Amino acid sequence: MEHDLDFENTIRPQELGAFNGQDKTVDNLRVFIRAALMRGESLDHLLLHGPPGLGKTTLANIVANEMGATMRVTSGPVLDKPGDLAGLLTNLGKGDVLFIDEIHRLSPIIEEYLYSAMEDYKIDIVLDKGPSARSIQIELNPFTLIGATTRSGLLTSPLRARFGIQCHLEYYDGEVLAGIVRRSAGILDIGIDDDAATEIALRSRGTPRIANSLLRRVRDFAMVKGRGHIDLGITRVALGALNIDARGLDTMDNRILSAIIQKFKGGPVGLTTIATAVGEEAGTIEEVYEPFLIKEGFVKRTPRGREATELAYNHLGLSRGVEENSLF
Ligand code: ADP
Repeated sequence: MEHDLDFENTIRPQELGAFNGQDKTVDNLRVFIRAALMRGESLDHLLLHGPPGLGKTTLANIVANEMGATMRVTSGPVLDKPGDLAGLLTNLGKGDVLFIDEIHRLSPIIEEYLYSAMEDYKIDIVLDKGPSARSIQIELNPFTLIGATTRSGLLTSPLRARFGIQCHLEYYDGEVLAGIVRRSAGILDIGIDDDAATEIALRSRGTPRIANSLLRRVRDFAMVKGRGHIDLGITRVALGALNIDARGLDTMDNRILSAIIQKFKGGPVGLTTIATAVGEEAGTIEEVYEPFLIKEGFVKRTPRGREATELAYNHLGLSRGVEENSLF
C-alpha cells in the first residue's frame, strides 16, 4: 500500500503543462487560474466529475500548486461530523484548497454547513446542547472547494449550483494514453518502445490509472522474462498472462455485454434490468461503465433501452440469435 502511494506520488503530474489530454478542461482551468491570480483572489469552487482513474485528484493537486495554495484532502464518507468539517475549514489559510473526494456521499447535515462556507466564507457552529445551546458564527479565510465525483447525478442541485466551475473529464484516446505511458516509463527509468506503449494504452480502458498499473506489471515481466526493456513482444506476453482483454474491457464491462446479449437477446433492455442482472447499481453502470462501452461502440443507447452492437457479439465470440452459456 505504501509502495503504491509512493508510486502514485512520483508519477502524478504536478503542473498543468505535464497533464496530458483533457485539452479543453486544461485550457479553461489555465484561464481561470490566471485570472484569479491576477485579481489576487481565491479560485472559484471547482467540481470535477467523471469516471474513476481519469485524473480528478491529480487535477485538484495541480490547481492547488498553480495557485500556490496548500491542499487539504478529505472525502464525503469520512466527513460525517459537523465538528470535523468546522475543524478543516477553520484551519484553511487564505486561498487554500479543500479537496473533497466522492462529494456525492456527503451527509445532508454536512452539506448544509458547506453552503454558507462556500457562499459567504462563514460557518455557524452550535455550542452546548439543550437550553444553553447557542450558535456562534466563525469567519473563514476565502478558500477554494474542489469536489470530485464519479456520480454527478447524485449531487443535490443546491450543492452543484455553488460550484462556479464544473469540468467533466473524458476517457483518454489511445495516442494521449500512450504519451502518458511513455512519460511514466521515463519516470520509472525503464526503456519502452513506441508500439509497446501504444499496446498498453489500447488495453487500458481509456484510463491513465489502469495504463500506469499495467505498465508496472509489464515492467516486472520485462525485468524477469525479458532484458529489462519493454518491447511489443514482452508486452503481449505480460498482458496475456494478466488476462487483460484485447480491448481493455474489465470484468464488469464484459458482464454487462454478456448480460445484454445472453439474458436479453441483445436488447433493447432497460438500465435497471441490466443492473439487476449484473448486481451493480444502475447509476454506477450509467456513469462509470456505460460511457466507455458506448464510446468504444459496444453498446447503443436507443429510446427503448440499451442494445449490444455487432462489435459486442464479436468481442464475446458470439453470433446473433445463438444462445450460449454465460461467459462471465
Ligand atoms: P481520479 O481521482 O479521477 O480517480 P487520479 O487523479 O487519482 O484519478 O489519477 C489516477 C492515476 O492516473 C494517477 O497516478 C495519475 O498520476 C494518473 N493520471 C491521471 N490523469 C493523468 C494525465 N492526464 N496525465 C498523466 N497522468 C495522469
